[in-house]
Amino acid sequence: MKAVFLQGHGGNEVVQCGEQPRPTPGPGEVLVRLRASTVNQVDLYMRNSGAGITHQLPQIMGLDGAGEIESTAGDPAFTVGQRVLVHPGIACGRCEFCLRGQDVLCTRYSLLGEHRHGTWAQVVALPASNVFCTPTHLDDVQAAALGVNHLTAWRMVVSQARLQPWETVLIFGIGGGVSLAALQIAQALGARTLVTSRHADKLERARALGADVVIDSSREDVAKAVMSHTAGRGVDVVIENVGAAVWSSALKSLVRGGRIVTCGATSGDQPGADLRRLFIRQLQVMGSTLGSLHEMHELLAFVNRHQLTPVMDQVFELDQVHAALDRLDSGLQFGKVGLRI
Ligand SMILES: [Zn+2]
Repeated sequence: MKAVFLQGHGGNEVVQCGEQPRPTPGPGEVLVRLRASTVNQVDLYMRNSGAGITHQLPQIMGLDGAGEIESTAGDPAFTVGQRVLVHPGIACGRCEFCLRGQDVLCTRYSLLGEHRHGTWAQVVALPASNVFCTPTHLDDVQAAALGVNHLTAWRMVVSQARLQPWETVLIFGIGGGVSLAALQIAQALGARTLVTSRHADKLERARALGADVVIDSSREDVAKAVMSHTAGRGVDVVIENVGAAVWSSALKSLVRGGRIVTCGATSGDQPGADLRRLFIRQLQVMGSTLGSLHEMHELLAFVNRHQLTPVMDQVFELDQVHAALDRLDSGLQFGKVGLRI
């Protein structure tokens, strides 16, 4: 079958589009014929260095995906040809975290495109529990974007921050996929939304999508702007994945007792901790990665209820994968970079 796989670590020269063996489903696994996927930051980490993740080369890349069921493994819940999307995390089901319902914390977690063969391929094998019905209002590229991007934003905004409709949320780096997904979810919940970017055109597009306040972080002090837009109070929740470059202004933007959730550190992961501010103002700092199978069920119900549609940037064919990776690497994208398979 046709697939995109890593042959080493480095630049795009280690990413090859060519023939790989079709996967053989294990017990309880279904085969999904993939039609689309998207490009995530982790794909860049895997290409660049492998990110310290145990994997064997050649490694088929790609975490999220959507398409249709090719074989059901005898599972009556599925029919051949049914439109589905995938959750990339395969948990052991037996460790203390899995038994607590937090499969995303599984000690033996294995992720598509990281520890096992991923979705940038014509076919992927995975447990039936990791396969979900595609919302009928979405095409396959949009549906693929739910599996990592929206799921990550859902856990951050809903499960970790517990954002309430009467609260205010500040979202850093609007234009990135997770930030835009967080904006969509926060808006649908009814919260007031403030967003930042260094790009005026991205702020304009975020305003068109309904962001209540836009802050140009290339020209304005974010914390001061937040205070002026919240009558000196600060926001209840900060959602961020930029890291060191914004951490200080993120903490200064929070109201007393406010919550900050981070899922990334593209600008560095060792900012000043500002501990005095943290304890005096009793701030809560939370880390978050991906989301559980149960959160995927919740997210899909929410997406259907509010007819949410992921914002897509450019969509590339599988053999244009180098251009797709470059697009994400450029930081110029607004929404998810897609792959058609
Ligand atoms: Zn487990």
